[in-house]
Amino acid sequence: MKCPQCLKNEQTSLCFVGNFVKTTAMGGGLLYWDEAGTYHNHDPNRSTGSYHCSRGHRWTIMTRHACPGCDFGHMEPEVKILAEPELNTRE
Ligand SMILES: [Zn+2]
Ligand SMILES: [Zn+2]
Repeated sequence: MKCPQCLKNEQTSLCFVGNFVKTTAMGGGLLYWDEAGTYHNHDPNRSTGSYHCSRGHRWTIMTRHACPGCDFGHMEPEVKILAEPELNTRE
């Protein structure tokens, strides 16, 4: 993984996992086997993790639980860049 803000700035950095992890609680997913015996796990919950880089950028990545039997939940994770720290703040 690379920091999405550093990618924009064409910089490099170290990336760290933050301590913020959130999972939505929308109840259990739909677990079933279809007519072909294929296992499906349609979990509506999403997990969000936070990350930061050695340049002080922060971002979150929201992922869904991908069903092993079909396309459910196989979309790209949503990356959201949080506000850049104000390094040049003056009183
Ligand atoms: Zn960065
Ligand atoms: Zn499925």
